[in-house]
Amino acid sequence: MKQYDVIVIGAGNGGLTAAANCAKAGLSTLLLERHNIPGGSASSFVRGRFEFEPSLHELSGVGKEDEVGSVSNMFHKLGAKINWITENSTFRLVVPAKDGDKDAFINDDGVLVSVDARMPVGFENFAKKLDEIVPGSYEPAMKAFGLSTRMYEAFDALGEGDDFSGIFKALPYFPDLMRMTTHTLNEGLDALGMPKKAQDIFSTYWSYMGVPGAQFDFLYYLTVMHSYVMNGAGMPKYRSHELSLSIDKVIRDNGGEIWYNSEVTSVIMKDGKPAGVVVNGDKEIYAKQFICNASPDFVWSDLIGKKDAPEKQLRMSNARKTAASLTTVYLGMNKTKEELGIKDYSVFIANSANSDEQFAGSQNYDGNYCIINCLNHVIPDCTPPGTSMLFLTTITFDDVMKDVRPQDYKKYKNKVAKLMIEQCEKALNIKIQPYIEEIEIALPPTFSRYLNTPYGTPYGYRLEMWDSMIPRTIQFAQDQPYDNFIFCGASQERGDGYGCAYHSGEKAANIVIKSLSKEGK
Ligand SMILES: Cc1cc2nc3c(=O)[nH]c(=O)nc-3n(C[C@H](O)[C@H](O)[C@H](O)COP(=O)(O)OP(=O)(O)OC[C@H]3O[C@@H](n4cnc5c(N)ncnc54)[C@H](O)[C@@H]3O)c2cc1C
Repeated sequence: MKQYDVIVIGAGNGGLTAAANCAKAGLSTLLLERHNIPGGSASSFVRGRFEFEPSLHELSGVGKEDEVGSVSNMFHKLGAKINWITENSTFRLVVPAKDGDKDAFINDDGVLVSVDARMPVGFENFAKKLDEIVPGSYEPAMKAFGLSTRMYEAFDALGEGDDFSGIFKALPYFPDLMRMTTHTLNEGLDALGMPKKAQDIFSTYWSYMGVPGAQFDFLYYLTVMHSYVMNGAGMPKYRSHELSLSIDKVIRDNGGEIWYNSEVTSVIMKDGKPAGVVVNGDKEIYAKQFICNASPDFVWSDLIGKKDAPEKQLRMSNARKTAASLTTVYLGMNKTKEELGIKDYSVFIANSANSDEQFAGSQNYDGNYCIINCLNHVIPDCTPPGTSMLFLTTITFDDVMKDVRPQDYKKYKNKVAKLMIEQCEKALNIKIQPYIEEIEIALPPTFSRYLNTPYGTPYGYRLEMWDSMIPRTIQFAQDQPYDNFIFCGASQERGDGYGCAYHSGEKAANIVIKSLSKEGK
């Protein structure tokens, strides 16, 4: 009976980097993925003459040619070549005016708005622009970026080391870290004296992690902002599928095996810990170590089951809240972005500029919140000549579709898409509906079916204050159920996002490599 050194369950971003690092270290590695392609959310799909990006809006940590970021460095270290393109703007926030708003004005698009903020890349540029929109916000913004620079270094230090001790090494050098991490984003920005309206604009990226200002750990939000504002975000030229395929190649080039169409249907337990897995219901495979990119909730409900789950894991699973779910409408347009009048890559459209109000409105679909992206702004030739590609995304929480009957699902899906499209048309004063050539709508059940996560969340667990990055890092070891079974992916310390999932896979691999080298492997 063949026994692998390590089996990795799931080829999402976390599982791919975990398997690549294990294979590169010379471990006999098997990566098992239930779909026929790698990546989880990091993939692509084709409809008609359009190849769509399913998930990536912005990838932080790519850096620039002269300043390599942590993510591009990771690909470089693996030996994977990526065609990176960097964006030269961060976001635009548009809040259409409500009745009676005395500060409302008509913007360049001819729309009456309360807020229209087009924010540039670079700390100084960002702070100046914020100050132009909300006088008195330059200094607080620069102070925030000063802190973010310091916290970014601390963040790197936390991730150092192959074991769980990064945090203890980092603390003596960053004594303010623990103090800051007990404050919410709103409290931190208040303490810096940032005017409320500027705080709203500054907090626009809350939805990327799914936690609004009153619940978001200030320190962690600063690191998120830092990574996007410092150098701008990056994109792979050939959709996120390019990233996943490049890691697939690294795994194979280093002797690792990848089996697609191979779903792990249960974990074989021996002497109280995992010894192997069953694939597609009938094939048993064994390994010394396991790295799991599948959702922990799914592991405890299906793969291992409650009977064999350590009690503390079940308690943590119960205590944690499922993070945000996303809904995306993918549109292949038979007009160019210029013909459509789409001037920006990424526009956040909301009924209120305030993140807590946006969050409160995201408990159902009511046309409250939508991000519209036009990939042609970053990659002009990503669609055939004369066409363009849009994706519209909204965020919801928990079981937003609990009252929808199966027979009404299609109608419901179309209604949600129409609401989102109309919200964008109105806020940007453009026409989308007459020029749609291809449309695909992904609601939480679509993502749930594809990713195997509760409510289809691609974000893992909600990063609430008690369960944010620092508390999770401190109790990382406690979160791993057995000494030979480690989780990776969006459910781990840093939460969601490509960079976070890649980091978690790298970390899991390093732990496994260390553990096997102790055994003399
Ligand atoms: C619409 C959308 C927009 C997003 N935008 C951004 C963005 O702009 N920037 C950003 O950084 N992040 C973004 N994200 C988030 C990001 O994609 C995720 O946080 C990240 O990819 C999570 O990676 P993961 O390692 O947790 O793996 P997942 O993507 O969750 O993949 C898990 C993999 O495991 C497989 N699997 C599960 N169970 C089994 C099993 N039993 N057997 C075998 N295989 C199994 C699944 O098929 C899947 O391939 C977005 C996500 C979505 C959906």
